[in-house]
Amino acid sequence: MSVAAAAVKALVTIAADLPDDVDPEGARRVAAAVAATVAADVIAQAKLTDEAAAKVSRATALAAEAAALAALAAASIAEIAAGTAEESASVVTGATDRTELASALAVQSTSRVAELALRRVSQLRLSSLVLELRRALDEAELLLHYQPMYSVDSGEIVAVEALLRWQHPSRGLLLPAAFLAAAEGPHLVAPVGDWVIETAIAQATQWQRAHGDRAPLMWVNISCDQLGRRHLVGVIERLLTESDLPPGRLGVEITERQLAIRVDDVAADLLALHELGVALAVDDFGTGYASLDYLRRFTFNEIKIDRSFVSGLEDRTDRAVTASIVALGRALDLTVVAEGVETQAQFDQIKELGCHVSQGYLHHRPAPPQTISDLLHQPTT
Ligand code: C2E
Ligand code: MG
Ligand code: MG
Repeated sequence: MSVAAAAVKALVTIAADLPDDVDPEGARRVAAAVAATVAADVIAQAKLTDEAAAKVSRATALAAEAAALAALAAASIAEIAAGTAEESASVVTGATDRTELASALAVQSTSRVAELALRRVSQLRLSSLVLELRRALDEAELLLHYQPMYSVDSGEIVAVEALLRWQHPSRGLLLPAAFLAAAEGPHLVAPVGDWVIETAIAQATQWQRAHGDRAPLMWVNISCDQLGRRHLVGVIERLLTESDLPPGRLGVEITERQLAIRVDDVAADLLALHELGVALAVDDFGTGYASLDYLRRFTFNEIKIDRSFVSGLEDRTDRAVTASIVALGRALDLTVVAEGVETQAQFDQIKELGCHVSQGYLHHRPAPPQTISDLLHQPTT
């Protein structure tokens, strides 16, 4: 083996043992030491002349130096590469984080802005609806439709429910869902509510005169906001006196949801209405968080099982719930009404469960007063 080859071999062996994080100065010193050792070894083995030994020594030192420089260069390239990678990784991560943060903030603020804008739009819409509805009240665009309620046993019409409609000049006939939020808001709840009661009592009086005892009981929907200040009780008392409609021919329906939340506010007025002889019904029964306390506190005459139960009667659970509602109503001597009866199968089921009264599209849709007048004149089929 040539001297240079032996030197390189020794250097490679030593370089392999060098730690990865060797510093430049240390590498140079190691290289010099290795070069000196190798040169001394080679010189000793080869028994070279001083001049040759000096040459070998220098060549080995140069080779070692070159190797150390190469190692250093490689290390710093690796270091730079690693550093760059790390740096660029952190730049990338930072950028991603910043982008994510920025986009999260953007999403947040956009949705906040959108939410505020939507709220403002619905406020504006509601307030313009309130203005329009007030005008509608003055222009006599509001009207009541009536939906007959049938005795399950005899098939006779025993009652009607008054349902508010708005004959809008450009949008056609509107259902409550389109405007009830405005109608039940603080500005209109009293004037619209009073108009409904007044119109329904006038109609009930007319049917009472035409049909006497066979006239249907008139049910009117009221919102809890109409109660609480004795206003409605006063209005009803006055209208009943003026119209000579027997108080028992009028009933008010309050949704269970409202009763569950507002029962204390409306307690005095409900008791006063009952004392007047007005019938009381719990509407949409079964949807109001199962707070049955009010059934003990007030004398209700009727519960109206919510349409959602009637439409789910094929389902075992819904049927069980409906059966227990009917049993509860019957045990409390309440008239049990099934709302939203649409099919013969549903009617058969509510009959089998023991409901007293059936109301729904199967029998008749809500209709203008004249249609109901005609219906009342027809003999029962
Ligand atoms: P509600 O008191 O539970 O009235 C029954 C609703 O179910 C009515 O909707 C009626 O048209 C509908 N309906 C009756 N039978 C069927 C059926 O077989 N199938 C289906 N799918 N629906 C049926 P409407 O007239 O749109 O009234 C909705 C709600 O608006 C009423 O529910 C009541 O809570 C409220 N409302 C109506 N008129 C007045 C009112 O004068 N004052 C107040 N405060 N609320 C009212
Ligand atoms: Mg109702
Ligand atoms: Mg209902």
